[in-house]
Amino acid sequence: MSETLILRGGRVVDPANDVDVIADVVIRNGTILSLGEVEGADTGKEVTVHDAAGKLVTPAWIDMHVHFRDPGFTDKETLTTGSLAAVAGGFGTVACMPNTKPALDSVRAIEDVIDRAKRDAACAILPIATITKGRSGREAVDFEALARSGAIGFSDDGDTTADSAIMRNALEASRKLNVPVIVHCEDKVLASGAMHEGEVSRRLGIFGIPAAAEEIIIARDLMLADLTGGWLHVCHVSTARGIELIMEAKARGVRVTAEVMPHHIVMSDEWVGGERVMHNTTAPDGEDLEPAHPYTKVNPPLRPVADTVGLLSAVKQGQFDIFGTDHAPHADEDKFGGPYEAAASGMTGIELAFPCTYELVRAGHLTVNELVRLWTHAPASIFRLDRGTLTPGAPADVTVFDPEHSWVVSRDTIRSKSANTPMIGMTMRGRAELTLIDGEERYRA
Ligand SMILES: [Zn+2]
Ligand SMILES: [Zn+2]
Repeated sequence: MSETLILRGGRVVDPANDVDVIADVVIRNGTILSLGEVEGADTGKEVTVHDAAGKLVTPAWIDMHVHFRDPGFTDKETLTTGSLAAVAGGFGTVACMPNTKPALDSVRAIEDVIDRAKRDAACAILPIATITKGRSGREAVDFEALARSGAIGFSDDGDTTADSAIMRNALEASRKLNVPVIVHCEDKVLASGAMHEGEVSRRLGIFGIPAAAEEIIIARDLMLADLTGGWLHVCHVSTARGIELIMEAKARGVRVTAEVMPHHIVMSDEWVGGERVMHNTTAPDGEDLEPAHPYTKVNPPLRPVADTVGLLSAVKQGQFDIFGTDHAPHADEDKFGGPYEAAASGMTGIELAFPCTYELVRAGHLTVNELVRLWTHAPASIFRLDRGTLTPGAPADVTVFDPEHSWVVSRDTIRSKSANTPMIGMTMRGRAELTLIDGEERYRA
C-alpha cells in the first residue's frame, strides 16, 4: 500500500467539525492528514487516488448494538463474518452484545472477544458485558472487574433484568465507573406474544405484545436511573410513548441516552401483514410478502405506522442520541419450519441500516449532517471513542458512500452469514463503496 491516499472530490461531511464541503481528504500513515483541495502536481508517486466525485465521504460509521453470536452461535455469525458485514455496510466500529454462549459475564470472556477481534475482525469490536451472571437475572456480575477488562457497558439484551434491586446495583456501579447500563425493555409476563398487539395481530390471529410491555420497563429503569444517578442507555425504543417517557426524564435531568433502529422507523406491523411499505420515505416499496413471514419477527416488534412517525419526529427533535442496528443474524432453521410464534426474533441489518436512514434525508426529514452525526460523532462522543471524525490527526476511519448505487437485497449481496431481513428481494438505493480503518482498506465494493 502506498503511503498517501487521496479521496478526491467527494462531499465531505464531518459533523464533529461542522464540515460539509466538496473537498479532497488526504490520508497518510493511517491518519487524516488534511481536508481541502490537493493540486494535481502535488500528488506525485507513492500516492493513490480514489475518485469520490458524487459520493459522500464521512467518518466510518459506528454501531453500538450488534449481535455477532460469537462464541456459541457461530452458525449464525462470527466475529469475522459480522465484521465483514459491518465494513461492507460502511461501519468501522461496533459494540457487540453479550448474549453469547457462554455469555460475556467474565473477565476471561471479555478478554477473549477483545483478543480475537484484534486478530480476526475487519472492524473494531467493543464488547459489552452482561448485567447478571449467565444473563440469568439472578446474580450481578463483577462490574468493576469487567469495566477494567474493557467492557464498554453492561446489558442483558435479549431480556430485561427483572430484578429491580440488581438493576439498582448495576446503575450504582454505572455511576461510579461512568459506563452505561444498556437496557432491553420488555416486561416478560406481558410480552408473551409474537408481534405488536393491535389491528394487524388480531387480523392474523397472532397473540400480540402490547406497547405497554416496553413502556412499563422504560419507566421503571428511568426511575432507577433517577434514584441512583447512574447512566441508563435505552436500547431500540420502538414506541412513541417510550421516547416521550425518556424525553420527560431527560428534561428532569436524569442521565439517560436512547437509541432508535432504522427498522422501527421505515417498517411497521403492516409488514407482518405482508405489505412492505417504506414508511416515512420516498423509497420504492417491496412486493407483498406472505403474511406472518418469519423475517418480520423482531424484538421489540414492528409497531403501527403512528409509532414510526412518532419515533421519526423524536429523531428530528434531537431526542434520540444515536441510531443503532440491532444486527441480529439467525440461521434459516431458527426462522422457518414452525409457526410464527416459534421463529427466532431478530433481523440482520448492518448492511441495510445506512441506506435506510439515508432515505430519511432523501425524504427531507433529516439533513445529511444530522444523519451522519447520529452514526458517527454522536456515539463517539457519548461513549468516548477516539473515532467518528475527520479531524486532521485522527485515525483514518473513513467511509465513502455512493448514494446512487442501486442494488437488490439478496443472499448474494449480503455479506453477513445470515440474510434474515424482510427487505429480501427489495431494491435499495445507496451503498458503501469503500471503508477504511486506520487508513487501511477493509472493504471495497
Ligand atoms: Zn434487545
Ligand atoms: Zn439487541
